[in-house]
Amino acid sequence: MVKILIVEDERKTGDYLRQGLSEAGFVADLARDGIDGAHLATQNDYDLVVLDVMLPGMDGWEVLRRIRAQGRSMPVLFLTARDQVDDRVKGLELGADDYLVKPFAFSELLARVRTLLRRGLGREQQRLQVADLELDLLRRRVVRAGKRIDLTAKEFALLELLLRRQGEVLPRSLIASQVWDMNFDSDTNVIEVAVRRLRAKVDDDFEPKLIHTVRGMGYVIEAPEQT
Ligand code: CA
Repeated sequence: MVKILIVEDERKTGDYLRQGLSEAGFVADLARDGIDGAHLATQNDYDLVVLDVMLPGMDGWEVLRRIRAQGRSMPVLFLTARDQVDDRVKGLELGADDYLVKPFAFSELLARVRTLLRRGLGREQQRLQVADLELDLLRRRVVRAGKRIDLTAKEFALLELLLRRQGEVLPRSLIASQVWDMNFDSDTNVIEVAVRRLRAKVDDDFEPKLIHTVRGMGYVIEAPEQT
């Protein structure tokens, strides 16, 4: 789930951006001034920030300065009403990744957002997550609700595969070939056993349950629909 923070004080523009980005499949939060924006951006893990320059309370430059001062390197797309070269230079010097001059078409913003997210994917792909379950690929660590979970190498590989393709029902044959490097033999219950063990570690003591059996088809990991 890709999370985007929008910092925009113009009510209509903010609502429009939030709705558009939500419809495009992102989780979009909206802050209506710079102080809220800086707070949200430094306290949460956003994958991208869409940041208006002219904001009440604290301008976009200062918000960006605070984000970078916290060591956060998510891409930042500036929205500027002033088509001024020095504004662009200033933004890029402060560590903005791109800028868009108002007024702009939503399709243009969406294209920029997707490009920036792709560029940042290297970093993003080091961590896989569903709900409060996180898998850190570099450190080979699994944490749920802040609690460290110890997995065997096979359990880790199984969880990684499920997370990489979360929301997708994975047939046992695919799991067998990807995790055990073997062809599926209908007589063996090695996958059922492994899934049961994995569930005991990541689901039994927690809510909501994340790993689901789809009878006759396979397994899927996903968080319940948010309402
Ligand atoms: Ca503004």
